[in-house]
Amino acid sequence: MSREQLSYGLGRLAALARQRDWVTGEAAGLTPTQGDTLRLLADRPAGLRLGELAAHLSVRPSTASDVVAVLVAKELVRRLPDPDNARAVRVVLTDAGRAMLGQMPDGFDAVVDMLSDADAGTLHGIVISTIVRLQQAGRIAPQRLCVTCRYFVSEADGAGGHFCSLVNQPLQPADLRVNCPEHEATG
Ligand code: SF4
Repeated sequence: MSREQLSYGLGRLAALARQRDWVTGEAAGLTPTQGDTLRLLADRPAGLRLGELAAHLSVRPSTASDVVAVLVAKELVRRLPDPDNARAVRVVLTDAGRAMLGQMPDGFDAVVDMLSDADAGTLHGIVISTIVRLQQAGRIAPQRLCVTCRYFVSEADGAGGHFCSLVNQPLQPADLRVNCPEHEATG
């Protein structure tokens, strides 16, 4: 297996997803980064700090600030004082921003839709383990993964299977979340 060929293939898939984001965004009057920002703020009632948003978007804080300024002007997000830091602001979705999300399918849907159930399950596990490694290396913003959640009980702990202690439900591998609104990071 050639890692170079794998990187090239992943790059082609990412280019397709980005192109889909441009097409979708054009119809909504948004760039892919602006659309990404709305998706990141979905299911986050407390919003994100500007620095957190920049980390998730993999852009400089000044770029994130420019993106937020455009979205504020379009009344799709608003800035709120951060209750934990008087010098910081949080960015949250407005009702109009939430409504806009319905018109902003993720560009990667076009890729995932082509997968068999078995391949989707395999890729799901690979994506989670890759994100964990990238997080441990400090190269990606912390994601809301089951496997990094304080409520997650791993089958490795002898529980007879994965388990969510928040909802008291077993978690099959296919149930493991990549972006769970109830996620709380382990201490
Ligand atoms: S609260 Fe969410 S992220 Fe945490 S273990 Fe349960 S389902 Fe997973």
